[in-house]
Amino acid sequence: RAKARARGSVSLFAPEMDMQIRDRRALHQDLSNAIRNGELTLHYQPQAASSKSIDETDVVGFEALARWRHPTRGFVPPGEFIPLAEESGLIVEIGEWILREACREAASWPKPLQIAVNLSPAQFLNSDLVGFIHQVLLETGLQPGRLELEITEGVLIEDFERGLALLRRVKALGVRVSMDDFGSGYSSLTYLQAFPFDKIKIDRAFIMNLGRNAQSASIVRAVIGLGHGLGVSLVAEGVETQEQLDFLVDEGCDAVQGYLIGRPAPIDQFPCMVGLAPMLDEVPRLALQVG
Ligand code: C2E
Ligand code: MG
Ligand code: MG
Ligand code: MG
Repeated sequence: RAKARARGSVSLFAPEMDMQIRDRRALHQDLSNAIRNGELTLHYQPQAASSKSIDETDVVGFEALARWRHPTRGFVPPGEFIPLAEESGLIVEIGEWILREACREAASWPKPLQIAVNLSPAQFLNSDLVGFIHQVLLETGLQPGRLELEITEGVLIEDFERGLALLRRVKALGVRVSMDDFGSGYSSLTYLQAFPFDKIKIDRAFIMNLGRNAQSASIVRAVIGLGHGLGVSLVAEGVETQEQLDFLVDEGCDAVQGYLIGRPAPIDQFPCMVGLAPMLDEVPRLALQVG
């Protein structure tokens, strides 16, 4: 959009664009200090095995979601600072912090639940990822099978051969790999066939439209069938209503994630999952509906 503007009406929009550029520069500078200043944190969102009445015993894992609390701008969402970190190369350092922090956290849980960590394309292709994952697993003592890395198709589009080789090496460590946001981009069945994914996460857009149009229901049903046919398990993203959950359970979707089950929150919002509650019966229900 900025490019289109620049081409069409440079003089009119130049000051605004200049501001945006300065803004970005400042933000970039701040981001480079964010780790050191302890401004990055992780929120965790539960994933539950599909069942029509979800309770704490159904939670099978958490997805770690990065958060940046900027000292003056407040909360900067990952949709903004992750791309910024990618452009500037800071993503390697930030991504390493995220992976280490998530594994360290998960290793401390009393139950061996899964921990899912998002990887961005730059992180996936531009660093010694496999060596680093190996190092973090040794460092934290996390069982490799508990770690799940989420990647989007974008990663594979950039460099198919390299992506495939990397995925195989990651899997050789015993780590699991999920395809995130399936159906949102240039989803290709070729990727599903060629890459050894353990899980497919059905994009939130399809779940959101489940009650609204018949096409979404058909697509979700077909993707579940496709995944199961390939021996891959299915997770639905962005489950917000009981109707959506009922549909997914009826269609045999393996797991669900979304506000209905729990919003992303600091880990201490899930006391019995992380052993912070001295007695389970003091916390009869998991505090899933936070925020
Ligand atoms: P994602 O990996 O697809 O994560 C799911 C996003 O959907 C999260 O947004 C989550 O808060 C949101 N969400 C979950 N359930 C619901 C729901 O029921 N309704 C609605 N409306 N939204 C829901 P978030 O945390 O803002 O993250 C956005 C994206 O930023 C993530 O999408 C991921 O691509 C990226 N991201 C987040 N953390 C990291 C990270 O540590 N590293 C990398 N590389 N990317 C990250
Ligand atoms: Mg249940
Ligand atoms: Mg994800
Ligand atoms: Mg996703």
